[in-house]
Amino acid sequence: MDARLAVNLLSDRLAALPLAIVYLTDRCNSRCVTCDYWRHGQTNLPPAAAQRLARELPALGAQVVLLSGGEPLLHPQWAEIAAVFQAARLRLWLLTAGLALARHAVRAAALCETITVSLDGATPATYQAIRGVDAFAAVTAGVRAAVAAGAAVTLRCTVQRANYAELPALVDLGHALGVRQVSFLPVDVSTHVAFARAADYDQTMALRPADLPRFAAVLAGLERTHAADFTSGFIAERPAKLRRLHQYFAALLGQAAFPPVACNAPRFSAVIGADGHLQPCYFIPGASQPNGAPLAQALNAPAAVALRRAIRQGERAECARCVCALRRGPRQLLLAGV
Ligand code: SF4
Ligand code: SF4
Repeated sequence: MDARLAVNLLSDRLAALPLAIVYLTDRCNSRCVTCDYWRHGQTNLPPAAAQRLARELPALGAQVVLLSGGEPLLHPQWAEIAAVFQAARLRLWLLTAGLALARHAVRAAALCETITVSLDGATPATYQAIRGVDAFAAVTAGVRAAVAAGAAVTLRCTVQRANYAELPALVDLGHALGVRQVSFLPVDVSTHVAFARAADYDQTMALRPADLPRFAAVLAGLERTHAADFTSGFIAERPAKLRRLHQYFAALLGQAAFPPVACNAPRFSAVIGADGHLQPCYFIPGASQPNGAPLAQALNAPAAVALRRAIRQGERAECARCVCALRRGPRQLLLAGV
């Protein structure tokens, strides 16, 4: 048990950082309609910065590093950086779109405790419509290769208008690919920071009024036909949590209240950009921070502490419609750490 976590929970300072979300790069080889990283990304995390993080994170009680981006496997030295973190006894979780996973599967399986692959369609056509690239075969080959190499692979599907009818097929595909779990979250049409996109991006990914009863029927059908997958946890969310996705889309259409959000992610995690900038989570831009300061100091710069306080006090609009809230109870944090 890390007693420093009590400081995290009882104040707006971070005495420990159990989970570090590190963007290895902001470049990407997908072309998602929901995201602009692939248009603008050009920064790779410098290896020297990774080595510094590998020294600083253990001192902050970090346990897990989530390798994110952009597409982390596009960093030409991703494996060397992952090995540096691994040598520092940090557990690695890779979040990838999977286009290059087949080529890197053996090293990724050896370096990463968990691999989450984004898969937004159960067919090549749906995948391409959402991701903008003809890569369904490449991604599923990557998943198969990672599973064959012994990796614990999870599929994550961003539910939207183009794919909500495919939820049962995606669960079946997960079984066919041999993954450990399939997880669903709604497409984010409210914030711009997580996907580096302009404020006037296309919002046609959300469901339309005629889709709502159909989506409700899909969810009800999934509960009937895949009850064992809910029971076993193969589907990560419980039925009630999936029904919140429906409520979220109904709320976007003004037909329901947004599902209540409970989140304390900024109290146990932080996002560290490829250029070194810090954010309290994927969705909220970071406050200005001391240039080149040690991580512990930057995390607790007055502006960063004030930003966490504002989030805790419910003053950030991003939280009200957040699709990716994360909550850890005191017992879970103090006993398990993440
Ligand atoms: S959403 Fe992810 S996979 Fe898609 S372009 Fe953006 S960074 Fe790449
Ligand atoms: S609710 Fe969402 S936007 Fe708010 S702090 Fe949590 S992850 Fe960030």
